[in-house]
Amino acid sequence: MTQKKGRLFIISGPSGAGKSTLIKDCLQQLQGFVKSVSYTTRPIRHNEKEGKNYRFVTKAQFKDMIDRNQFLEWASYSGHLYGTSADFVNHKRMQGQNVILEIDVKGAIQVKEKTPDVYMIFITLTCLSEAKQRLMGRGTDDEKQIKKRLAIASEEMGYKKYYDCIIVNNNYNEALLNLKNVLNRHKGR
Ligand code: 5GP
Repeated sequence: MTQKKGRLFIISGPSGAGKSTLIKDCLQQLQGFVKSVSYTTRPIRHNEKEGKNYRFVTKAQFKDMIDRNQFLEWASYSGHLYGTSADFVNHKRMQGQNVILEIDVKGAIQVKEKTPDVYMIFITLTCLSEAKQRLMGRGTDDEKQIKKRLAIASEEMGYKKYYDCIIVNNNYNEALLNLKNVLNRHKGR
């Protein structure tokens, strides 16, 4: 029997909505899913690991990858560049793995144009002041960065209409169950 290709999923949403934690728990609890590790020029945070959270590269390295056409998509977010390796995604999908991209709304639109059968999930909160509290509590961004991220967040809310499904993360356990169900229902078979 030939191996079925894995499905591609996008997860986007405002900073502070809890995307990364939800994805981490889904990956631990579901079989057949893998998260794409993006390339970024953003400085590494104290709680991050090279190769696990991101591949941290210089601007010159990132631009070289753009020139070599190595990105499925890339975008600038809050002054830094972020991109998805086309090879990683293709390779994993050919192995039958469902691939999750945790990317911003501009990158998501690029992927949708190239891969129309991508399943797009938007994770949000009912109120962005909750995102502010979470960003402040997380302690990974300074005040200026938090302000920038919240300004981007309200812009990002306007992109909700492009997504197949919206998950509101006001209650973590409910949101996790919801996300697991959506991923299982739409994965490649
Ligand atoms: P953070 O700096 O908080 O890790 O990520 C900032 C934003 O960049 C988030 O919205 C995240 O989803 C997005 N992001 C992370 N990796 C990529 C990527 O490869 N491409 C794009 N377009 N956005 C990304």
